[in-house]
This record gives sequence, structure tokens and C-alpha cells, in this order.
Amino acid sequence: MKIKILGSAAGGGFPQWNCTCRNCSGLRAGTLHAKPRTQTQIAFSPDNRVWFLIGASPDLRTQILSAPELAPKPDTPGHTPIGGVFLPSADVDAVMGLLHLREFQTYFVFATPAVQCLLKTENRIFRVLERGDSPVQWQVLSNSGRLGCHLSESPGELPTFVCNTISMGGSFPEYASEEFLRAAAPEDATLGFLFEQDGKKLFVATSLSGDNSEWQKVAVSADVTLIDGTFWSDDELMRTGRTDKTAREIGHLPLSGADGLLAQFPATAKGRKILIHINNTNPILDEDSREHRSVLEAGFEIAYDGLNFAL
Ligand SMILES: [Zn+2]
Repeated sequence: MKIKILGSAAGGGFPQWNCTCRNCSGLRAGTLHAKPRTQTQIAFSPDNRVWFLIGASPDLRTQILSAPELAPKPDTPGHTPIGGVFLPSADVDAVMGLLHLREFQTYFVFATPAVQCLLKTENRIFRVLERGDSPVQWQVLSNSGRLGCHLSESPGELPTFVCNTISMGGSFPEYASEEFLRAAAPEDATLGFLFEQDGKKLFVATSLSGDNSEWQKVAVSADVTLIDGTFWSDDELMRTGRTDKTAREIGHLPLSGADGLLAQFPATAKGRKILIHINNTNPILDEDSREHRSVLEAGFEIAYDGLNFAL
């Protein structure tokens, strides 16, 4: 399996257009030792031919253009290497990119029933995906299931890869109506994915609320874990003055602290552990900072746009 990190920042990207935090200001001024980042977007290919997206970021158009592997093939008009999209949630940052994929193209979208309801029933704009001759094909993901994905047409073959889903807790986006929230299963709100192929396992959890500890077992089994590095501290976003919510209140376990992600990440996990979905306020983005050094010393890598690896 090949994996491409097309974007590694949280919502807003880095720098964020309306943010004057130390990081954003420093990056604009050229005084901060840090890499700019687009909003989190992961792509993987099980066979070096068909590619799947995890989430659909607001930056998806430019991210696709930056990846030659994702370009349409001139000898097969109407075909693109992008075969499908696995949606971890209905957050704006995870679904807005679907609107970039609206050019009369068919592909699969994998999402929980509640996320599908939010996108197809509560938000009419996503009906733009239905206008192809063969419209986008929605596939139901259980919030705790195992789905075999077959790329071969021949019957009886084993699945090319398996997608295991794990409910990550957290909540539905703020744009969801009261009526929707009364009916929706809370476990459908945010998923983590464990993709398995040829005995190798990739764990992707871009939103980790910390509401349950299921993720720790999965992280122990994974060869590579791409995990929520949104915030360093719980009050980080409050300090921008734009919100009165803590990191935990918006569904992200902070990295630091006695019960933060660094402390809770299982010591027995042997695979690579890579922080992704990093908010522009997070001090780990400053490559000269104490926080940047401490995550590296704890054995974590920090994802950046253009990071590629194979499993
Ligand atoms: Zn900022």
C-alpha cells in the first residue's frame, strides 16, 4: 500500500487567513522556522493504480493537482485514478472537498448512515454529486465494522484491502439540526480507520476525542498510525480569543498534560506514529520550539504536506 499525505494541517490550514497567532504571524513574516501546510488530506493506493481519499479537504483541488498519481489518464477518457472517498465525519474540513469532485464523475463515497443523512438530506448542495450519468455511489460504513474492498472483478478472490472502522466518540458538526441530532447515533459522528492489506495495518484517526480508549488497542496493532495532533494544550484555541471552547470540548485530545495523547499513547506500540491534523496555533509547528523537540523525543513524527511512504 502506498500512502500520500497531501495536507497535514487542521481546519484553516497554516497559516490561517484570519489568524494572528504567533505561528501564523511568524510564518507570514518569514521569521518562524516552520512549513506552511494545507488542510488534512490523506490518499492511499492498494495497487499503485486506484487511489482512495480519506476525507475530502477544502484544499482538495490544489492537492490533487499537486499529485501526478491522481491525474486522469489521457488514454482512458472519463476515468480518474480516484476510486473512492472514506469520510471520517461530516465536519466541514472532511467533506467540503467533495464539492471539488462534482464534475459528472462517478466514484464511491463510504460514510456512516448519520453522515450520509447530514450530507444528502440536510444539505442539498451535495446533491451536485448526483448529476453524473452514473452518479456518485454512496456505501454504508458501520461505526464498528469490517468491510472487505475488492478491486478485482473476478468472483471468489480475497478482498484487496479491508477497512475496519472504530467509533472515535466526539460529536456531530455544529451545523447539524436539533431534529437530526435527536435521531442520529452518536457513534456515527467520527470514525477512525484501520486499513489492512497483505498483513500490514494503517491506522488513521484524525479526530481523537479521548472519550473512549478503543483507539489504544488499535494503535498497538498498527504498523503506522496517523493520529490527531491538532492541539498541544487544552486552552490553546481559547487563547486566540476566537472561541471559549477547550480542545477536548471540540473533540480533540491535546498532546500535552498528564492525560494528553503523548502520555496516553501505548508504550507497547511498535509502529511508526505520525501526528497529523495540526492546528496553526500548535507550538510543535515551530521547528525551533521545545514542544517540537519533545514530540520527536517521544518517538512521534510530525506529518507535512508531501510526505509519502509505503506499507
Ligand atoms: Zn494561527
